[in-house]
Amino acid sequence: MPKKKSDSDSGSNLPAKSHFVRCRYCGQKNAVKADYVNNTANCGRCKMPLSNEPHKKFADLSKHDYIHPLDSKALAALRAIPGIDSALKKLLSVTVETALRVMFNASSVKVTSKQCPDIHAKLQIACTTLGVEMPDMFIMQNPVVNAFTYGVDKPYIVLHSALLERLSEDETLAVIAHEVGHIHSEHVLYLTAARIIELLANASVGALVPGSEIIKFIVSAGIGSALLAWARRAELSCDRAALLVTQDPHAIGRTMMKLAGGTFASKIDYDLFLEQGREFQKNYDEKFLDKFWANLINAGQTHPLPVWRVAEILTWVESGQYADLMKKD
Ligand SMILES: [Zn+2]
Ligand SMILES: [Zn+2]
Repeated sequence: MPKKKSDSDSGSNLPAKSHFVRCRYCGQKNAVKADYVNNTANCGRCKMPLSNEPHKKFADLSKHDYIHPLDSKALAALRAIPGIDSALKKLLSVTVETALRVMFNASSVKVTSKQCPDIHAKLQIACTTLGVEMPDMFIMQNPVVNAFTYGVDKPYIVLHSALLERLSEDETLAVIAHEVGHIHSEHVLYLTAARIIELLANASVGALVPGSEIIKFIVSAGIGSALLAWARRAELSCDRAALLVTQDPHAIGRTMMKLAGGTFASKIDYDLFLEQGREFQKNYDEKFLDKFWANLINAGQTHPLPVWRVAEILTWVESGQYADLMKKD
């Protein structure tokens, strides 16, 4: 059940004459106009729409409560490759893990409770809802709507500036929650290795990086392709984590619509987009997706198939698993 900060001014117990609403996401007490009704004002701290509906914070959520079976299956296949963990740790120690952190610290804006406080509050909401320790978060100037989570011992999240310019408040929370989901699902080590392998492959600088022998081994052992195939499936688990935070399937659906339709998203019919997702799922099986993914990986895409992802999240909601989790203590 959602925690109540006090007995008189929280949630649905709002007295008729009170002009305050406590934000269901971050707990901030907000002054509202007398004619206030749900979703007509935004929280002054996290900027999320104010509502007297409850917001669930999970006391003891396990990744096994929501992980997508394709993620578990691909991860088991990945872990079965002999020598994978030691090869990846070696790769990360000799390549760019530290360099990436230095780069983000030097060339991006670090989000704190004073710097972009509404974005920081959204990170806090995602972390307290799923039960994850707060990671560092950076905003980087980049025209592509995207976000990443990196790190080995200490994860950190990077949001592209385009994402914040184009997404609404609840869609931004959905993306941040998806990234926090990668931390909660213990994806970060493999995910960082996947990104580095992609980076080295795309930039054709693999041979210049110290430890290129390790990279050759990783490629020859099939670790690279298994890792990239898993990384796409891992996205499905984190879309579920994002839903557990936003607690609104359509916030995930609209985010996917913007990932698919870009800046023209405001002109796209959301119901037709959902229909397109259902149609996609009906027509294509896993084998087709493998081929499709391989093509996308070659094309350097990082988060493919938003249409398929929205279909997957709708299927999960319809399966009743999401509703069961929301009822869990
Ligand atoms: Zn708030
Ligand atoms: Zn992701």
